[in-house]
Amino acid sequence: GQRIELFDLPLDVISLPETLDVLSHWMFATPRTGHTVVTLNPEFIVQSRTSDEFAQAMQAADLVTADGVGIVYAARELCQTQVPRAPGFDIVRGLMARHGPELRVFFLGAKPGVAEQAAQNAHRDFGIQVAGIHHGYFKTDEDQRVAELVRDSGAHLLLTAMGAGRQEVFNQYWRQVLNTPVTIGCGGVIDVLAG
Ligand code: UDP
Repeated sequence: GQRIELFDLPLDVISLPETLDVLSHWMFATPRTGHTVVTLNPEFIVQSRTSDEFAQAMQAADLVTADGVGIVYAARELCQTQVPRAPGFDIVRGLMARHGPELRVFFLGAKPGVAEQAAQNAHRDFGIQVAGIHHGYFKTDEDQRVAELVRDSGAHLLLTAMGAGRQEVFNQYWRQVLNTPVTIGCGGVIDVLAG
């Protein structure tokens, strides 16, 4: 599909239904290959100005969607391109609704206890399998241990909610170790799923 550039960051011109199709294909493809998804919002653009590793993680992402109207508006004004919205929460809910029990999801992030609640609710509402759970308050010297935990879980989908930047850098840097078909940085999504 078409990819444009917004403030030196990539942005894919892709709708929510098209995003669900692409991610569904990646999740169940063989052999297993890791992909990274970024849902771009204005805060990311601001923060990436002062963080090379954040900017690089976004530049290397396999798919970058517009998380909200701020990005849609910026793309229209600055790139004369109509970009559809594909927010992180809608992507996550859409994948779980579409695949239910065949989908193994790892919940990584938020305060201790919150990912457990999110996983419980998602299992109740969509029938998804919970591949694993880990809170998002660990130091970077524990990154490898957590990445291996995700790898060994056999998840199709990793939800990483550890705050803007941290989550995208983690997904991109550890991508080979994670070897998870779809990893998505999704900010407050675990909090929202926890209710
Ligand atoms: N979070 C986390 N670890 C951190 C910082 C944040 O797990 O070191 C979680 C936080 O609990 C929340 C989510 O990341 O569930 C988004 O946090 P916040 O809105 O503060 O981050 P932002 O996306 O605004 O940077």
